[in-house]
Amino acid sequence: MATNAESPLDLLWKEYSLAFRDFDDLTLARWLAQTLGQLEGKAWRLSHPLIGAYRLAAQLAHERQIWLKRLATPPAAYLESTCCRAPILPLLTRDVRDAGLICQHCNDTLFSFEDVAAPLQGDLEAWAGEYAPVHAVAHWDDRQRKTAGDYERAYENAAEEAERLLGQAGQKLSVRLLEFYPTIVWEDQDECLEVRPEDVKL
Ligand SMILES: [Zn+2]
Repeated sequence: MATNAESPLDLLWKEYSLAFRDFDDLTLARWLAQTLGQLEGKAWRLSHPLIGAYRLAAQLAHERQIWLKRLATPPAAYLESTCCRAPILPLLTRDVRDAGLICQHCNDTLFSFEDVAAPLQGDLEAWAGEYAPVHAVAHWDDRQRKTAGDYERAYENAAEEAERLLGQAGQKLSVRLLEFYPTIVWEDQDECLEVRPEDVKL
């Protein structure tokens, strides 16, 4: 069997994205530019339906190189990214220390950690540093699990801690990032610890 088979969820999102495939380039460009205007000034959960829709449209726009064609003008606050020249729309994840902020158009690094607004680097680094050992519990090997004794309890505790830390990302870090970027998306789940968006409370 193919090892890179798409999950049922991937297939479902592929089905959702068909809606945008009917858009011609100009319609797609206008939809994206207008939606960026509506997203502006807020921190959004990655799980928010508007963000889900935007990401689908953005992927397609990336494939079709919509932003290079300059068919529509995004709101002025969105500067052009260097990764793919789409408007900047950064995603904050637990991997911010290594991967920086992620571009929602090409999924590449939009700002490396060193290029993230300097006044925020300390807080982001502290948060990611706190998150890393919590997340690592999901990937403990047998020896580590045995040392912990009750692994189920350790896993549960880690999941609760992850919920709290993700809440911080949404409530504090994202809000501070908004001082520097027009819009922020933050990851509100941890699939390895089975933390779902509805578990992360603000
Ligand atoms: Zn990009």
